[in-house]
Amino acid sequence: MKLGIVGLPNVGKSTLFNAITRAGAEAANYPFCTIDPNVGVVAVPDPRLKVLGDLYDTEKITPAVIEFVDIAGLVRGASRGEGLGNKFLSHIREVDAIVHVVRCFEDPNVVHVDGSVDPLRDVETIQLELILSDLEAVEKRMDRARKALKGDKSQQGLIDLLEKLKKVLEEGKSARVADLSDEEREMMDELFLLSSKPVIYAANIAEGDVGKAIDELPPVKALNDYAQQEHSGLITISAQIESEISQMEDDEKQLFLEELGLKESGLDQLVTAGYALLGLISYLTAGKKEVRAWTITKGTKAPQAAGKIHTDFEKGFIRAEIVNYDDLIACGSMTAAREKGLVRSEGRDYVMQEGDVVLFRFNV
Ligand code: GDP
Repeated sequence: MKLGIVGLPNVGKSTLFNAITRAGAEAANYPFCTIDPNVGVVAVPDPRLKVLGDLYDTEKITPAVIEFVDIAGLVRGASRGEGLGNKFLSHIREVDAIVHVVRCFEDPNVVHVDGSVDPLRDVETIQLELILSDLEAVEKRMDRARKALKGDKSQQGLIDLLEKLKKVLEEGKSARVADLSDEEREMMDELFLLSSKPVIYAANIAEGDVGKAIDELPPVKALNDYAQQEHSGLITISAQIESEISQMEDDEKQLFLEELGLKESGLDQLVTAGYALLGLISYLTAGKKEVRAWTITKGTKAPQAAGKIHTDFEKGFIRAEIVNYDDLIACGSMTAAREKGLVRSEGRDYVMQEGDVVLFRFNV
């Protein structure tokens, strides 16, 4: 999964992104991740991995990871090509979801591009650029579809969808909030619009506000109400504190978080929010050689889940042997779980569940 970090200048994006790259493992440790200075890789926190690692006396633990892409350079006018303009916008097209960093801290030493701290205005500024870019894309697509309609009546559905989207965008709203059928939503996904991507707002709050409830912070509360209306996520984070945490050892980090009254770091919250927003779950594979978590979308069937490990696993899929993580731990070993009849043999139509510990059987 790839999350793109956007936001106006001077809101704390770089501070947060640097914390991500420092906290995260070297991308080189994850051969499946992009090695790029603008990409940071963070492990998905999952305490089950260590427990399984102990059970199997395993040599290597590999967590699921999320890639964060630093998409700097969005300024007012980007959709007209100002700043990095279109280059910036094209980077957004490649991510699964957007992390929109919004400044909610006051600091006279840090200039705000629009003179004052106002989260809703900032969000609208960025959103407008995405909407304008989408409007242009929708109009172009509509011209093409209208021309094609003359010989191909099947274009009508697409034209109707584009009309709907155009209306929403012209009202200054994101494509995300358009009232669409499932079929239309699938069609919209193929248009790769920027404002149709899921969004998590990262409210960058002052160090002193960390641990406070959202209701105690009026600008954050306003942003949260807004996020809820459009079914987006929101987390509060202090980029500065994340930056400090990213330089600590695990024990020290835990103590520091407790002092602040936090259960987990902002970064971990961000990863958890991303999982929830995108409807992701993890399944696990465990053995002496490696214990590992794999990310899939809810509703994924066993063969496609196997395909995450290797395309051959999907092609030659026979069945999956599955035990629920809690059952496995309660039994103490795979053999004991098997004796109790808790290891199931599942076929091609099995829908994977969170925390399934899996062994795939396949033909090569
Ligand atoms: P970017 O332009 O969005 O990448 O913003 P930066 O991360 O470069 O931050 C801009 C300035 O704001 C820097 O001087 C940071 O030290 C400062 N800054 C970032 N986050 C915080 C914060 O949570 N509190 C305060 N007081 N300053 C911050």
